Amino acid sequence: MKVYLETYGCQMNVSDSQKLLTLLAAAGYEAGEDPARADLIIINTCSVRDKPEQKVFSALGRYLPLKKRRPGLVVAVGGCVAQQWGAALQRRCPDLDLVFGTHAIDRVPALVVAVRETRQPAAVTDFREEIPSLDVVPAQPPGAVAAFVTIMQGCDNYCSYCIVPYVRGREYSRTSAAILAEIRALVSRGIKEVTLLGQNVNSYGRRPAGEIGFVELLRRVDGIAGLARLRFTTSHPKDLSPALAAAFGELEHLCPHIHLPLQAGSDAVLRRMGRGYTAAEYLEKVAALRRARPDIALSTDLIVGFPGEKEADFQRTMDLLEEVRYDTVYSFKYSPRPGTRAAALAGQVPDEVKKERLRRLQQRQDEITAANLRALEGSRQEVLVEGPAKKGAGRWVGRTPGNRIVNFSGPAGLLGSLVPVKITRALRHSLQGELD
Ligand code: SF4
Repeated sequence: MKVYLETYGCQMNVSDSQKLLTLLAAAGYEAGEDPARADLIIINTCSVRDKPEQKVFSALGRYLPLKKRRPGLVVAVGGCVAQQWGAALQRRCPDLDLVFGTHAIDRVPALVVAVRETRQPAAVTDFREEIPSLDVVPAQPPGAVAAFVTIMQGCDNYCSYCIVPYVRGREYSRTSAAILAEIRALVSRGIKEVTLLGQNVNSYGRRPAGEIGFVELLRRVDGIAGLARLRFTTSHPKDLSPALAAAFGELEHLCPHIHLPLQAGSDAVLRRMGRGYTAAEYLEKVAALRRARPDIALSTDLIVGFPGEKEADFQRTMDLLEEVRYDTVYSFKYSPRPGTRAAALAGQVPDEVKKERLRRLQQRQDEITAANLRALEGSRQEVLVEGPAKKGAGRWVGRTPGNRIVNFSGPAGLLGSLVPVKITRALRHSLQGELD
């Protein structure tokens, strides 16, 4: 039987989709590219902003009519929109067979069998004490040299604009034993780099109690023989401890790159967001990281147009861009999410103003990104070769320890190798080089 799986949103969703395909393969399903030939269609959804949420309805508009020609077809929606809406999604789309929440991934094969046999729709969105799917080890695509390893799910921070705690539940950490076993197995199968994944990895090990902390987990992963590179995402600045900052100068395989979401530069806005730090405290964390690892590369997330954001507040965000000089910024207009505190705040900013601020921010950040990349011209970088480049025969693509993308020419057989590359040219978002 064929399953067609469409994934929206963050890396957590991509990893969940890999787990779904792994579970369904064990139940006799093969991944297919064509929804019109599928026996099962799954849409794995994201609700971090309104736009990705709306994509679900346009996808259902495309796939539900297929059931007329293929009565045995089962259509399912999973992920954060499924968790947010639950059975209400089926009231809005009556032909939808299955709605499964973010804690129900391990149950999908059995739920599909039940829906097929009973021809009754099902919606399963209860939060569970434990999250069995966290320990499902996803099959890696052939030739993969880097892998994401989920170490926890959920978030207890309840930032006022964020829907994640409502759709992913409370923080729940996998056992360090399971994580280390998964990484050893990945390394034994040729994986060179792992990224530890969670909504807020810095608070790993808090729940269930009795587990080691995040820095100790990093230390143990760093010690796994054969692992070349270690990364993690996403960090909350308030939980970035001095020990974690120092780890960047101590751990051999921990790459000099961190994604550290700032969200806004104004203390007044940070307070209304419930972020738990000030701009000055954030800059001190950046300084601690740079003391431990002067060549560390930083990326961040920024929201413009948060309720009540005045021009002076926005200017503080622009000031932080200048002070930190990020390599990459993922920036968005504030999007009210149902059920969040910020959605009810006074002072909602007009969309035109949001658009204008976003344009100014992205324009300035593009200049900073380009300057950071230009500064690497002439340097020698160690590149982990991840695959053939999209363009040009005999060309490869990979990333530096600082997570910059490099395209270069080289002989066959370099996949998975760590090679020295001389950077010859900076492009808008990547580098070009030649084997050194
Ligand atoms: S820390 Fe991140 S995931 Fe958690 S509530 Fe805040 S923005 Fe959302």
